[in-house]
Amino acid sequence: MWHDDNDNIMKLYVIVDTDRADYPFPASCPVCGTRSGHIYMHRYDEENNGGLWLWCSSCHSFSHSRYKIPDWWKNLSLFTILDLEAVPEKLDKQAVYIDAFVNRLLAIKADKEIKKAQPPIPCEKCGTDMIRELPEGLGGGMSITCPKCGWGVATSYFDPILRDTAEYQIKLLEGNQVTVESIRAVNQVAHRNLLKSRQLIESAPHVIFKGDALEVHEKKEILDEESILYKIEPDFPYD
Ligand SMILES: [Zn+2]
Ligand SMILES: [Zn+2]
Repeated sequence: MWHDDNDNIMKLYVIVDTDRADYPFPASCPVCGTRSGHIYMHRYDEENNGGLWLWCSSCHSFSHSRYKIPDWWKNLSLFTILDLEAVPEKLDKQAVYIDAFVNRLLAIKADKEIKKAQPPIPCEKCGTDMIRELPEGLGGGMSITCPKCGWGVATSYFDPILRDTAEYQIKLLEGNQVTVESIRAVNQVAHRNLLKSRQLIESAPHVIFKGDALEVHEKKEILDEESILYKIEPDFPYD
């Protein structure tokens, strides 16, 4: 039922490189025109060797090839190399989940490109090159102001993490050491008392926090600091 005889399906990759729209996937299939085109990549090693899949859930055109995976890509925890076959049957069953994740990765990638590019924009009032002020940390909008006359434009631009409306949960995994530091870190995330936090570590796995992307990002930093073993669901695309 899957067929890899139409190279047009490869045009789906163009979206990854050029599309500036928010949330481009599922994309229009270049073969049948239905909005059911998907992409998934999986990095196999630190040299960025990996596989690329492009497929359509409607007409079942697909392409699979070896690929140098771009640095911005993150693998989903849903799959290991062993799960992935040339035919995208298993991938297609998770297409909604994959699309949501890929759209977030693309938003993060676009955000980095926007922040890196600093084209001089002349001030409307006096012609001086304006200065772009980036949001501090992860919060806030972006503004562009003139260093000479003070003319400014506040933009409604926000970091992808602030635009992410998903609810994430942090699951504490088995195998964490019971130490003063680990108990304290789990306590800061789970908002329980120290005794209860110790019990959470001893009887893991447990969901210890639910919240939006920004809240989860803060909690993630606390846990990473103490090398706590945990998993965020759905897959968390932010560093
Ligand atoms: Zn199609
Ligand atoms: Zn000016």
